[in-house]
Amino acid sequence: NNFVTIRSGYHGDTWNAMSVCDPVTGMHSLFGSALPIRHFVPAPQCRFDGEWDEKDILPLRETIKRHHSELAGLILEPIVQGAGGMRFYHPRYLCEAAKLCKAYGLLLIFDEIATGFGRTGKLFAWEHAGVEPDIMCIGKALTGGYMTFSAVLTTDRVATCISSHAPHTFMHGPTFMGNPLACAVSCASVRLLLSYGWKEKVLRIETQLRRELAPARSLPQVADVRVLGAIGVIEMKHPVDMAWMQRRFVEEGIWVRPFGRLVYVMPPFVIRREELAKLTSGLLKIVGEIPAGQKQSL
Ligand SMILES: *Cc1c(COP(=O)(O)O)cnc(C)c1O
Repeated sequence: NNFVTIRSGYHGDTWNAMSVCDPVTGMHSLFGSALPIRHFVPAPQCRFDGEWDEKDILPLRETIKRHHSELAGLILEPIVQGAGGMRFYHPRYLCEAAKLCKAYGLLLIFDEIATGFGRTGKLFAWEHAGVEPDIMCIGKALTGGYMTFSAVLTTDRVATCISSHAPHTFMHGPTFMGNPLACAVSCASVRLLLSYGWKEKVLRIETQLRRELAPARSLPQVADVRVLGAIGVIEMKHPVDMAWMQRRFVEEGIWVRPFGRLVYVMPPFVIRREELAKLTSGLLKIVGEIPAGQKQSL
């Protein structure tokens, strides 16, 4: 009945979800021993567009080997670790993780809440690896943001297993679960997404982000610039002064919310070329205003 996960993950702020968030950047320190204790392995180090190194999977392999008898599943965000660090890791990690889960009878759980519905250039991020999960969590873009709604999808095998044992259903039923209006909004949003050539739009955003964020690489304040699908990330060498930075962004007429060392954008797919250009030039300008080589006072 326990879980294994990778560090730098983020799965939300609800009770058990918190327990599989990164133990350092998550809220473990606030809730301490009240949270269930999970198995954490180091986050994958191989970059999405880099070389695969077999060593990356060793910690997960070791942990699953040692603890599989108490492990129900592996949960992770496929390809992109979002709020825990905006990290893009190698698809091969998912292939190897899936093999381990299969070999040791663990359920593979993908949290696609941030990555789903085209954000990474594939409809779902796991398509980069061709690895299907047993359980998939979706939310956020499910409704296009017009209503609060999320869902959990499972394979037939998992669903049948739940349905064939008393009480034949999940008995957790929040009052507004499966809310018909939210369902209708989700269906409308997904239909819309699939109707307007999202793939080309995301590719165009990706190409523009790559071109227009690239100059940030040569700024002395910047540690890394990375782009995948409609996600653009500038990673700074030091944590940014968020209050100062957000004020400067607003003065430039753009709305960006940095956190820690990360300044990033995940624009809506309907963004126009000149709107995205305003966003990227604003980002470059403000990032360049940070004094190089010294930490801003926070
Ligand atoms: C935002 C996010 C969540 C949180 O979802 P809630 O519906 O707000 O609980 C979970 N996982 C990932 C990957 C997210 O980005």
